[in-house]
This record gives sequence, C-alpha cells and structure tokens, in this order.
Amino acid sequence: MSNKVYIDGSMGEGGGQVLRSSLALSLITGKSLEMKNIRAGRKKPGLLRQHLTCIKAAKEICEATTSGDSLRSMELTLAPDKVKAGDYHFSVGSAGSAILVLQTILPPLILAEGKSTIVLEGGTHNPMAPPFHFLEKCFIPLLNKMGAKVSMNLESWGFYPAGGGRFTVEIEPTTKLRPLEVLDRGELLAKELNVISANIPAEIIQKEVEILKDKLNWDKINEVSKVNSPGPGNIIMTELKFKNSTELISEIGSKGTRAQIVANKLIRKVNKFLTQEAPVGEYLADQLLLPFALAEAGSFWCTTISSHTHTNIEVIKKFLDVHIETKEYKKGALVTIN
Ligand code: AMP
Repeated sequence: MSNKVYIDGSMGEGGGQVLRSSLALSLITGKSLEMKNIRAGRKKPGLLRQHLTCIKAAKEICEATTSGDSLRSMELTLAPDKVKAGDYHFSVGSAGSAILVLQTILPPLILAEGKSTIVLEGGTHNPMAPPFHFLEKCFIPLLNKMGAKVSMNLESWGFYPAGGGRFTVEIEPTTKLRPLEVLDRGELLAKELNVISANIPAEIIQKEVEILKDKLNWDKINEVSKVNSPGPGNIIMTELKFKNSTELISEIGSKGTRAQIVANKLIRKVNKFLTQEAPVGEYLADQLLLPFALAEAGSFWCTTISSHTHTNIEVIKKFLDVHIETKEYKKGALVTIN
C-alpha cells in the first residue's frame, strides 16, 4: 500500500464520517491524506466549524502539516507526524458536536505512547451524532474490552443550537487492540429511561413522560432530570443493558416538534430493538468497524448495515490491509474482520 491515500469525500453518503475516519486512519498509519469533494453529499457541503475542529485536533496531536483546512473548503491534505499522547483541550466554538471531535482523535490516542487527558467543549447531545451517553455506555465498554482504558466524565450538557457542553476523557493506551466477538446480547439485565431537559417548559416534558409511561408500560420508568445548559434542550435516552452489550436509543426534542412525536419516535425504535436479537445496533456497527479493523480480527452481529457502515468499510480498506466481510445473518448482518 502506498504512503499517500486519496479519498473521495463524496463516496457513500458523502458525510463527515468519511473525513473523521480518514483523519484517524492517517494518523494511525502515518500515511498522508489527500481528500476532495468533502461532505459533497450534504446540504451545506465542505468543512464546517465542527469538521475544522476535528482537523485542528488531529493536526495538534501529531503536529501534522495541512492545506485546505478553511471554512467550506472541499479539499484537504494532511501529512501526519508521530501521534503524541498528552493533555489536550479542544473547543468546537459552536453547538457542533464535540463527541465527533473525540471520534476523530480517540483511535490514534488509544494507540499512542502514554496517557492522555482531553477536555472537549461544544455540543454533547446533538442530532445526527452520538450522544455523550452513547459513547460512554455502548462504545467505550467494548473498546475497553479490546484492551484500551478509556473513561469519560460529563461536566455540562450542550444542546443545539446554544452548545456550551463540556466533558473530559482519560485515555490509557494499549500497544495493540485485542480482537473481540460480539455475537450474543445475553439476557436483558435492565431497561432505564431518562428524560433530560434544560430550560424547557415543564408541561412539554410532562406530556413526553405521560406518553412514555403509557406506551412503554415498563415496571420502572423515569428519571426526569433538569440539567444546566446555556440554552434549551431535551433528549430522551433509553439504556437497554444486556449481559454482553448495551444499546442506548435516543430521541432529541427540537423547537417546533411536538412532544408526542418525539416520544412516539423513541418508543418505535426501542420496541423494534427489543424484538430484534442482534447485540449491535445500526450506529454502533459503523463505529465499531475502526477499532475492529485495527485489531485485525473479530466479528459482530448487527441489526442492519447502514450506508455509514458500508462507507466506513471502504475508507478503512484504503488505509489498512484488512479483509472485512458482511453477510446477511438472522434478520440482521454479520460483520467479520480478518
Ligand atoms: P456523519 O453523518 O457522516 O457526520 O456521521 C454521523 C455519526 O454519528 C455516525 O458515526 C453515526 O453512527 C453517529 N450517530 C448518528 N446518530 C446517532 C445516534 N442517535 N446514536 C448514536 N450514534 C449516532
């Protein structure tokens, strides 16, 4: 494989994931990255502030040289140097997702020489991004089973559009990730529902809770928490804790979307996951691919293969000499890396 990797950012869904995976893999492999058509598939194509923070973070942890890293640019080159563990602080400076900044630099830092502490500021519970708690409850526990030691601590919540969230991440690296098999959920140990709100009229949240209580019909419902955040925000999160894996299903409330709609969307997703059997949900599937590919072996059974998952496989194959196979498996799909 050559030392320079060309990535067409319009591949697959043509979103930010192509950029973030490419940055992470460029830093890990030491291969230079040349990208064009960045986020060509999105309504506002090119680099937005959140993506620029991902590039800035990637650049800083390995003292890379870059070109094209400016607002709305659709092209980027990055030549990485060695990744350095250390104490870092990155701020998106808008309500853009700080979680997605972490998604970019976490894989290189779990393989770096030495411990890192990262402070991240921006959105923590954004639409179209993993909520903080998804990483904490679903992704990180599996990553830790593979040999890394990562912990996350939420200091303040950040919702779109005001942002203002903040969290810290402690990383103890490993020299090589261990292969993992996630093929069985195991028994359902707990179902937890959290209705979170900041600066939202109480009657809206009450309505959500009534519908959830009525339709989910669980024995134990509800922790209703009012949290501090600079702006308004509402997220319902359901944690389904199985013996071998956890799924966190969430729905974000937004201005103009009725409480009924938010609650009903969540209920549909939760009931669907409970009737399925695969341990790995749609989002976790695309996020697990990178660590699994770095371990060079392993397999997981997921509920479905999204376009993000397909695209991530294509990006990974441009950097790593791994074989990733997907095949239909018991009303879902089996992903095998070898
Ligand atoms: P992109 O749309 O290319 O910027 O990528 C979005 C990323 O966010 C992907 O890694 C998705 O798996 C992840 N994601 C989006 N929505 C959720 C959600 N509700 N829960 C967990 N992860 C999510």
